[in-house]
Amino acid sequence: MSVTVRWAPSPTGRIHLGNARPALLNWFFARRHGGKYVLRMDDTDWARSTREFADGIEVDLDWLGVKPDLLVRQSERTALYDAARDKLIAAGRLYPCYETEEELDRKRARARLLGKPPIYDRAALDLSDEDKARLEAEGRKPHWRFKLDGKPVIFEDLIKGKQTVNTASMSDPVLIRADGSYLYTLPSVVDDIDLAITHVIRGEDHVSNTGTQIEIFEALGGPTPIFGHHNLLTDAQGQGFSKRLGSQSIADYREEGFEPLAVAIMATLTGTSVSVEAFDSLDAIAEKLELSMISHGSARFDPAEFAAVNARLLHAMPYEQAANRLSALGVEGEAGWNLLRENLNKFGDIVEWNELLTGPITPVVADEDREFLALAKAALPPEPWDLTTWGTWTDALKASTGRKGKALFLPLRMALTGRHDGPELKSLIVLLGRTECLARLP
Ligand code: GLU
Repeated sequence: MSVTVRWAPSPTGRIHLGNARPALLNWFFARRHGGKYVLRMDDTDWARSTREFADGIEVDLDWLGVKPDLLVRQSERTALYDAARDKLIAAGRLYPCYETEEELDRKRARARLLGKPPIYDRAALDLSDEDKARLEAEGRKPHWRFKLDGKPVIFEDLIKGKQTVNTASMSDPVLIRADGSYLYTLPSVVDDIDLAITHVIRGEDHVSNTGTQIEIFEALGGPTPIFGHHNLLTDAQGQGFSKRLGSQSIADYREEGFEPLAVAIMATLTGTSVSVEAFDSLDAIAEKLELSMISHGSARFDPAEFAAVNARLLHAMPYEQAANRLSALGVEGEAGWNLLRENLNKFGDIVEWNELLTGPITPVVADEDREFLALAKAALPPEPWDLTTWGTWTDALKASTGRKGKALFLPLRMALTGRHDGPELKSLIVLLGRTECLARLP
C-alpha cells in the first residue's frame, strides 16, 4: 500500500513545539514508507484563521526541514464539503437544529440537575417541515448535526492499540455552524477521503473525534484510514502548549538562534523510548523512530535538555554544514570552526569566539604572574609550529619555573585569550602563530 499522510494545522496562530510534534511524526512516517506528505491548512474558521498565519506555518515547517509534497487549503475546497453535506442529508445523517446557545445551555443545565449526562436530546429530529418553516420565518438559521449511530466504534490505533469510542455517550456533533461555515470534523473526513490519506497521525486529544469521524467515513462510503494518536507534549510545568496562552513559538526559537534539528529532536523524541541523543539529521530520526516507540504516558519538554541537545549538535557540526552560515556572519576558516565549535551554545556565539583568533583581545595578567609570563614569552619555541609545540613549550616552563596544573596553564590562557575558559590552547596557538602569541604575552 502506498502511504499518504497529512499534517493539518489550523492557521489561527504561530505553531509551537506541540504542533511541531505531529508535523514531524507524519513526515518521519512518510519517509520510512516512501510515502507522500500533504500539508493541509484547516482554515474553515473564518473568524480566527488568517493567511499570514498560514504563510508563517509554511515558513516554520520549511525551517524545520519538511518539504510537503502537496499543500491544500480547506477554504478552497468548499464545493467538496457541500457535496458531502448533501449526501449526508439525503442519507438522513445530517439534520438541521434551531436551538440558540442559551437554549442549549439551559438543556445541559437541566440534564445535569436530573443527574443525566449533558447530551443533546435530538429534539430537532422531531421537528416537522412546518415547524422548521416557522422557525426560519422567525429569522432562525439552522446549524447541522450529524446523527451518530450510538454504537461503540472500535479501531486499532498504531500507537495506543485497540481503542473503543462509545458514540452513545456523545452529543450528535455539529458539523455546520448557523452561518454556514464548516467546523473541523466534516471537512477533515472529506479531505482524508479525497486525498486518499492512508494514515492519520495526530494528538491523542482527537481520539473521541476519531469515533465520530469513523462513522462519517462510513456514512460517506470512503475508505477509513488507519489512525495513530500520540501523547501530547507539555511544557516543563506540565501544561499543554497553546497558541492562545502564548507558548513560545517555533519562530521564537528560530529568532533565538536555536538549531532546527534541536527543535525537531525535542518535539519528537520527548516522551518516546528513544533517548534524546544528537541525531545528525531528520532522516536519521526517521530511520530510528517508529510510532510504537511513543510512550503512552506524558511527554514533558525539558528546556535544559533542549539547550544541551542544541549545543551538542553544534559541537559535532562538520564545517561543510556550517560554511554558508559562517560566511553570512563574516567568519571564515575550517580550522577555526573545528577549534571553536565545542564552545558554542548557539550558532551565533561563533562571532564572539572567533575574536580569539582575529583579535583584538585584551590580555588579562595578574601581577603575581608577570614574571612567569615574561619567562614564558622568552621560552616560546621557534617556528614551524604544530600540535606538539604547546607540549614542548609548557614542559620547558614546568621545568624552569616549577609551576604545574592551573598555576601553569591559567595565566597563559588568560594572557593569550583574555578569558578563563575556551578552546584547547594546543590548537589555538598553532592558529595564532608565534608573532601573534608574542604580541599577546606581556
Ligand atoms: N486542525 C486539526 C488540529 O490542529 C487537525 C486534526 C487532525 O489532524 O485531524 O487539531
